[in-house]
Amino acid sequence: MILLVLLGGTMRPTRLLAVSTAALLPLSLLAGAAPSGAVEPRPPDKNPTAVGTGGAVTSVDPEATRIGLRVLRQGGNAVDAAVATAAALGVTEPYSAGVGGGGYFVHLDGRTGEVSTIDGRETAPSKMPREAFIDPETGEPYPFTPELVTSGVSVGVPGTLATWETALREWGSRSLRRSLVPAARLARRGFVVDQTFRDQTADNAERFAAFRSSRRLFLPGGEPPAVGSVFENPDLARLYELIARKGTDPFYRGRLAARIAKTTRKPPVVRDTDLPVPAGHMRPRDLRRYRTLQPEPVTADYRGLRVHGMGGSSSGGSTVGEALQILDTFDLESMSETQVLHHLLEASALAFADRAAYLGDREFVDVPDEQLLSETYAAERACLIDPGQAATKPVAAGDVDEADGTCSDGARPRGATAPDTENVETTHLTVADRWGDVVSYTLTIEQTGGSGIVVPGRGFLLNNELTDFSLTYDADDPNRIEPGKRPRSSMSPTIVTEPDGTPVLALGSPGGSTIITTVLQLLVDHLDRGLELPAAVADPRGSQRNTAAVTAEPAFIDAYGEGLRALGHELRPAGDAFTSAAEIGAATAIGFGPGGLLTAVAEPERRGGGDARVLEPRP
Ligand code: GLU
Repeated sequence: MILLVLLGGTMRPTRLLAVSTAALLPLSLLAGAAPSGAVEPRPPDKNPTAVGTGGAVTSVDPEATRIGLRVLRQGGNAVDAAVATAAALGVTEPYSAGVGGGGYFVHLDGRTGEVSTIDGRETAPSKMPREAFIDPETGEPYPFTPELVTSGVSVGVPGTLATWETALREWGSRSLRRSLVPAARLARRGFVVDQTFRDQTADNAERFAAFRSSRRLFLPGGEPPAVGSVFENPDLARLYELIARKGTDPFYRGRLAARIAKTTRKPPVVRDTDLPVPAGHMRPRDLRRYRTLQPEPVTADYRGLRVHGMGGSSSGGSTVGEALQILDTFDLESMSETQVLHHLLEASALAFADRAAYLGDREFVDVPDEQLLSETYAAERACLIDPGQAATKPVAAGDVDEADGTCSDGARPRGATAPDTENVETTHLTVADRWGDVVSYTLTIEQTGGSGIVVPGRGFLLNNELTDFSLTYDADDPNRIEPGKRPRSSMSPTIVTEPDGTPVLALGSPGGSTIITTVLQLLVDHLDRGLELPAAVADPRGSQRNTAAVTAEPAFIDAYGEGLRALGHELRPAGDAFTSAAEIGAATAIGFGPGGLLTAVAEPERRGGGDARVLEPRP
């Protein structure tokens, strides 16, 4: 440890050095911890914007951000800090993220300017039948709520731990052991419950109460924990400590793997629940076979910059990228605010039409990324935007094979949009270090509260990510269920660079399919409308995902509704069947200025607000 601190200021620590030094130390020393319980937790203050140098961390949670910042201060790099921050979010944001879920990790190497990604998406079990979401009793798809949402059948093989392991192996300077210790300590000492945590627990209370394990953890005394009380998770602390000692093997092999698989096949329901809880198909071998993937990023050119996003099983990079390529054909800077937003919404609808027609897990589906992001195709799609009138939605997907860049009608009546059932949770963190490395990482367990099922005695929720597959099987649908496949995601961790790889901006957001529109709007707000990064993160949002109405936050409707309605846009207030929140996104972002100046931004209001910190604040 001493060695690392000495090296920290001037050169990159090497992974081997870090691992071997750390391995000599007991866990308690690595944590730098007072004995458990010695420090009474206090609610830490939050900071939505921080400007300075030397490194930055921004996430939705102040405990998590601080843990990441401490890693940077001790000489760890952006990847080390991102993993430590994510592990902490597994403690304080257990309904959005954790080892029971998956996610996408985008990394910029500060030395080479190279962008790489990890696809740590949850995966369908090898025995998942294509009619998994059809109720055998009725022959019809299960109702989405409550059957599919709270079920074993929607649980995918988790990829989060494997993502952390891969990221540290590829680019980290610390061991997984060392990265998990601060979060283990946080789980043991607990955190102070805030209104958001209590509300999220209350929203889930009915389904948590249906499982013995979930009830025990999240409804102590039968009630959601009170605001101001301390929420401890010793089971999760023990799990993190186990993994710190033994690596990811106990999770993906052996008794715990068997327990996870069995929990999906035979969820621990209480006797007196009315919830149906369809059982899943996961076997221990599905966990044993889980692998992260490292697909090429999907990169769009926008205003002379390179926008690198997620490929693999995510539609994020492609859909954000296609919309940007379309918008790149217009001079948005010279347009009125209403016209900019009109073009944004129309480009987004066109890109979402193509998403439905072409996007699915690239391991199973041939996604024509190059064509979708080509200038030729963008020019053709741009022809369909009428500055005086919003198109009737849904618009048709285009035919990438027929594209010739002219305004002849290349649309084809394919890819009718299925109902959008993606929920609005997840969490995003963004990290930069002093060496110019950048991480943009979105992770999730899908629904707020995932499947609602805690693995007994292990302190974490299982995801319900497989609900992101299309519910019924259609051989032409790129997002059809297939064994071993990953459901199509909208997660859009993004890093924008100069053509030479110098970072400009890193960002991402939670929000199901509104992730794509949030990232898109944020980019246009900042790069075209000239909003400073904090204002762009705070800006009221509208989301056009190729549906009749634009889903919008009330403040968006107040600010822009009149002008957009005059162009034929229908606007509907946001809010979903599961929560009362009418919010879209809770982004985090880091802007990179001259002289290494970093502007770290967290969401100021949504979801109770996040926390952004820099290593050396500029007064
Ligand atoms: N399932 C979503 C996706 O992969 C993430 C969960 C959410 O944000 O609601 O895109």
